[in-house]
Amino acid sequence: MTGKRKNRCSFCGRSEDEVALLLTGMNGFICNDCVRQAEQIVRESMGEGVRRPAAGNDAGLDMDKLPKPRDIKAFLDQYVIGQDSAKRYLSVAVYNHYKRLSQKVDDDGVEIEKSNIIMVGPTGTGKTLLARTIAKQLKVPFTIVDATIFTEAGYVGEDVESILTRLLQVADYDVAATERGIVFIDEIDKIARKQDNPSITRDVSGEGVQQGLLKLLEGSIVNVPPKGGRKHPDQDYIHVDTRNILFICGGAFDGIERKIAQRLNTHVVGYDSVQNQQKIDTKDLMKYIVPQDLKSFGLIPEIIGRLPVLTYLDQLDREALRNILTEPKNSLVKQQVKLFQMDGIKLSFDDDALDYIVDKAVEYKLGARGLRSIMETIMIEAQYSAPSGKEKELVITRQYAEQQIAKSEKMKE
Ligand code: ADP
Repeated sequence: MTGKRKNRCSFCGRSEDEVALLLTGMNGFICNDCVRQAEQIVRESMGEGVRRPAAGNDAGLDMDKLPKPRDIKAFLDQYVIGQDSAKRYLSVAVYNHYKRLSQKVDDDGVEIEKSNIIMVGPTGTGKTLLARTIAKQLKVPFTIVDATIFTEAGYVGEDVESILTRLLQVADYDVAATERGIVFIDEIDKIARKQDNPSITRDVSGEGVQQGLLKLLEGSIVNVPPKGGRKHPDQDYIHVDTRNILFICGGAFDGIERKIAQRLNTHVVGYDSVQNQQKIDTKDLMKYIVPQDLKSFGLIPEIIGRLPVLTYLDQLDREALRNILTEPKNSLVKQQVKLFQMDGIKLSFDDDALDYIVDKAVEYKLGARGLRSIMETIMIEAQYSAPSGKEKELVITRQYAEQQIAKSEKMKE
């Protein structure tokens, strides 16, 4: 004899008395377990990722023990000469980032929003150095990427999502840690729209990339290919929420002074023009930079809007270059002294030899970047011979430095 047929879950096949709850549909049934599983599948395939704890509350940062902006700046001072304005902005941004990660929004409904930064300054003035130095002290994952490697989806190059792949790698694929990280995007000016180029084809390296980047800056859940490279349909993505990731961008923006000057000129036509004109320091236009100038340079307004903190780096003058040789914790002079020390040789530089190195760097128009190659050129002969010689002391005089440079210049001829 057969009794009444039992209703079964149309998904897992279990009968109504094997499950806690069975829901009835038009042509079938679904059990409580299958509903739960289906929800998760929907969530994942809609790009919502796994449910996570509220952002930041699990950051594990103890505000009392974190370095304050003054401490962060003091640390930067040990490695980077000058650039006070950029250092202050960076220190505050990093500190606020920690605060934002530690905030409990529920208390009062006030949510501290992030303030991404953009640093503008001539090449070789310390933008990357600042980023690298601050990285040494950070309590969150950090990575540096170069904007020039990105192209719009569909072109040769990397997708902007690869920024997050790198951050994931630094964080050992810990998604929660990645979502608290900081990214430094170098050479952001290289993805500016090129207005001078009236090409009707798409601007591969410009606006398309800016649009891609905007998605990350805005704060959204991004599908990240875990191994980087291009997106591939078969690859499993990791969903990363960029809402709390701090972005610091840097760029030389070559020629932006012209845009600043143009703006200032049109500005001063007003009734108080004479007064304004007197105040403008034309030798250092960079300090007048405003977001509008970035727009004139070719960044899209949406990107500029997502980079609310704008700071600049000064061109390095002779005095700064001279200090860079000797002052930083791992200055070029200190590095040379250490190299020779390891051979038991006491190395020192005469002051006017150092002045000469600065002269040459200014002459070659290479800024701080030039100091290193000039130093190497001067030292190569001694580095080659001294370890096998008997002398235990070596003094680099201006005359010696001049000789070495002259020798290398002759060799290049
Ligand atoms: P940028 O990113 O602005 O083009 P970098 O930070 O890469 O320039 O600087 C190039 C090199 O010049 C650095 O590695 C560093 O040795 C030196 N340098 C530049 N600016 C400074 C500075 N303000 N203080 C100390 N060293 C500097």
